[in-house]
Amino acid sequence: MNSESYISVFDMLKVGIGPSSSHTLGPWQAARKFIQSLTKQPLGTLLEIQVHIYGSLALTGKGHASDKAILLGLSGLDPATSELARIQDIAARHEIELQISESTFCFSLLKNLHFHPDTQLPFHPNGMRMLAVGREETWEQVYYSIGGGFVVQENEVHSSHSQKVPFPCNNSTDLLKACLQAGCSISELVWQNECALRSEEEIQHGLQHLWQVMKESAYVGCHTEGILPGGLQVKRRAAALNKQLLRNHSYTHADEWLEAMKEGRDFRKVLTRISCLAMAVNEVNASMGRIVTAPTNGSAGVLPAVIIYYWCFSGQTASIEDVYRFLLTAAEIGKYFKRGATISAAAGGCQAEIGVSSSMAAAGLTECLGGSPQQVLMAAEIAAEHHLGLTCDPIGGLVQIPCIERNSMGAIKAVTAAMIALESTPSNAKVSLDEVIKTMKETAEHMNSRFKETSQGGLATNVSVNLPEC
Ligand code: SF4
Repeated sequence: MNSESYISVFDMLKVGIGPSSSHTLGPWQAARKFIQSLTKQPLGTLLEIQVHIYGSLALTGKGHASDKAILLGLSGLDPATSELARIQDIAARHEIELQISESTFCFSLLKNLHFHPDTQLPFHPNGMRMLAVGREETWEQVYYSIGGGFVVQENEVHSSHSQKVPFPCNNSTDLLKACLQAGCSISELVWQNECALRSEEEIQHGLQHLWQVMKESAYVGCHTEGILPGGLQVKRRAAALNKQLLRNHSYTHADEWLEAMKEGRDFRKVLTRISCLAMAVNEVNASMGRIVTAPTNGSAGVLPAVIIYYWCFSGQTASIEDVYRFLLTAAEIGKYFKRGATISAAAGGCQAEIGVSSSMAAAGLTECLGGSPQQVLMAAEIAAEHHLGLTCDPIGGLVQIPCIERNSMGAIKAVTAAMIALESTPSNAKVSLDEVIKTMKETAEHMNSRFKETSQGGLATNVSVNLPEC
């Protein structure tokens, strides 16, 4: 086991801005890193900044707002904390003025951002080359957006922490062994690992914040009507569904709304509610709203929908500690997919996004419902297994169709997987989570690139749409 590369729950789950983790957050963070790197270079007078984007980023970058994200990153804004109004203001522009050391110049999307759809950099399909052209010399950096908002440079595998943790686990076999030896649940074990990185108060505060953002994104999505941006004319549906489900209730904020939801637990209503919640969050994501990347933006609706399902409909008195357990468990599972397969749709299609989020949510729910570590891993395995081979073919390169409904499907499958696992004897299971992750990796490698976030196949080519020129 390599204890040098611990991935924290706060790496797997982070506050982000839609619509895409790999195509929006990744380029955003890369541009921020690039700007920060310039402060350390003796470049003298700068003449211009050039950004080149390749492969999947170039093919679906317009629909996924990669261009806007680069402007935002060059402006130095933080996607987790910057005000939404400021973000939207910059995102609406086509150019910005940059001041770097003694130089002031304009970065224009038309003149300085170059798309290379036919070229793929060798390390990953989402490559970016950024250049600061000075009078005397040029500074160049190459970045890769490898999914979930993670950005690396060549040969870096992923962002990780160098601190030693008490239970370093590279896969679910390690995890189960460690839980059995320590006599603890998965969330207890992850908690102890996280404590090696930060104080208990910081962990609680961070998890509460994630829950708050998840709740808010679901609430906003359930109360916003209209048409999503991008030109596909996709009508938001979550608000109408929410209205229909809560016809006779009044409330003024998200917590009262959750209480109102607890009434009416017949199967059809609960099923509709889970779908509504997942779509609500992804509608917010599609309109450049604030969500929790879990593990990606395209799949950001799955975890909140399943946590709220647990909160409102599980029949248990849910507490904030349950939310912690859910998030710690879900993040741990997501990390094994990141290590052993991929969470990038450009590398593995939608199985790597919705498939992984569904597996994470199934694990979190099973943990909260009292499942053993074996049952938690079984639930994660079942949810992932039934997403294998799922293609990524977003129409018009926008994270809307099939993405928004797909979040509902991922959430429902997560609940089903948890219920099956809780009623099963895991020792009878024939397929392990590690085997499914290995299968996802192989499936991703053999999948045609048309189905890996390029919008060159599937629904993206069979459904005719007329998008306005940007
Ligand atoms: S089809 Fe799936 S993987 Fe592709 S953009 Fe949509 S949600 Fe993401």
